[in-house]
Amino acid sequence: MAARPVNVLITGANRGLGLEMVKQILEAQRPVKNLFACCRDPDGPRAEALRTLAKKHPNISISRLDATDLCSIKECSQKVGTLVGTEGLNLLINNAGFMSKSTLQETTPEDMQYTFNTNEFLPHLRVGAKASKMPGMSTRKAAVVNISSVLGSMQAVKESYSYFSAVSYRISKAALNMLTLCGAEELKKDEILFALLHPGWVRTDMGGEEGEIDTPESVQGMLHVMASLTEKQNGAFLDYKGEPIPW
Ligand code: NDP
Repeated sequence: MAARPVNVLITGANRGLGLEMVKQILEAQRPVKNLFACCRDPDGPRAEALRTLAKKHPNISISRLDATDLCSIKECSQKVGTLVGTEGLNLLINNAGFMSKSTLQETTPEDMQYTFNTNEFLPHLRVGAKASKMPGMSTRKAAVVNISSVLGSMQAVKESYSYFSAVSYRISKAALNMLTLCGAEELKKDEILFALLHPGWVRTDMGGEEGEIDTPESVQGMLHVMASLTEKQNGAFLDYKGEPIPW
């Protein structure tokens, strides 16, 4: 039986890891019906590569979403609801991220600001879970994948802090980790899977030129891991190779 086409949403899809995810999802064998590629300035110069891709692939829908602006998240969710209807949303990838390298004493309240997209999209994920006839949990049924970082790991602080502080970033990723675990518990009854992925240290604008791997390798690994997730990994924190990251 042919795989059922799915509806996927990615935030921060205009550059870096998000843009590479869009490219690789389009190239993959598994069909995607609607790929909501979200970015904060769809008409601006930073979204040019995404617009070029969308011209060639009618299943890409570029949507405005600023992760710090709840109105834009609500508007995006409404648009998604209109397009997916009774099929719902199957996979939400919260990839958008910002990093300030500040120490604890330099960190400002603005650095600490973060908003989570997930709640606004839950109704569509619930519809996706119900519309799917598949048993158990998977990213083709209904899932939230949050792109975290090893810098959000409590256990990694001692070994990495002296050369990389990024306090507000660490705090926001640690909070994202907790949010994901809470989501995993709260929404397992709805069969919505929650997982955290660390992409590796990747050569992007954020990761810098010294990163250990390039975006195609990281994204290939992460998409492979996403495709393998089941209820056994609900609430897991894994790297792009599928290895568990210590909390
Ligand atoms: P980039 O800096 O290359 O890209 C960041 C993306 O997030 C851009 O699309 C940017 O959009 C978007 N973004 C930033 N702020 C917002 C916002 N408020 N609303 C919507 N979109 C926003 O980073 P990466 O691709 O490297 O990072 C992607 C994810 O991977 C992040 O969550 C990051 O924390 C995580 N990560 C990355 C690592 C690495 O080594 N690169 C390591 C560990 C984790 P815009 O163009 O508008 O700024």
